Amino acid sequence: MVDSHCHLDNDQFDADREAVIERALAAGVEHMVAIGTGNGPPDLEAGIRLADRYQSFYATVGVHPHDAAKANPETFKVLADLLAHPKVIALGEIGLDYHYDFSPREIQRGAFIEQMAIAREAAKPIVIHTREAWDDTLALIREHWTPTGLGGIMHCFSGGAVEARQALDCGFYLSFGGIVTFPKALELQEVARTAPEDRILLETDAPYLAPVPKRGKRNEPAYILETARKLAGLRGETVQSIAATTTANFRRLLLS
Ligand SMILES: [Zn+2]
Ligand SMILES: [Zn+2]
Repeated sequence: MVDSHCHLDNDQFDADREAVIERALAAGVEHMVAIGTGNGPPDLEAGIRLADRYQSFYATVGVHPHDAAKANPETFKVLADLLAHPKVIALGEIGLDYHYDFSPREIQRGAFIEQMAIAREAAKPIVIHTREAWDDTLALIREHWTPTGLGGIMHCFSGGAVEARQALDCGFYLSFGGIVTFPKALELQEVARTAPEDRILLETDAPYLAPVPKRGKRNEPAYILETARKLAGLRGETVQSIAATTTANFRRLLLS
């Protein structure tokens, strides 16, 4: 399996990062994508540090919508350079978060558009974070990204059938995380049951959003097995089949 989205740079892993990675490998997680947003600019290398150190990691670089107000023209220049690192496979997570509004919305939109231009220039896919901002996110993607044909990932997808259709039509893969295992996530489970086989991915978003039965605890990549089990149950497939499908999808989108 591949954990297409985790934050193992987080200080919650400072005491036992090596053990966490060992458990992931032992659980059958062959690769992890270290999302590089970290604590925000000026540090843009949180993911790259992990990818440089551990063979099993790939990385992204990007400015999270939370940190959009910390970015300046120099940030975006450095970001464009870092995209050329051999283990950096995508730009993200980028997008809009109107739930927390840690950065003013206009500034979030500006940083999002700027980063789509950088990714387009480098011909790398993007990883989208969107919360309570679906319509604006989709409108900006349609205008600035879909025409590139480069595709991307809707990280921790948690919408319904309509949103899923819109994301797929824009060329995106749907990445399922711990939320799909929550008993009340019936609409999302229906999406996970019916999503096209060639557009599904797995992720943990560790340390956040641990799947049932670890819900409420610190999440880690090894727990991706619980999400894979849930998807297998919903789709009437084996865990092995889900693992093979999602890994093949990951390779097609991000490594080819
Ligand atoms: Zn996110
Ligand atoms: Zn994340």
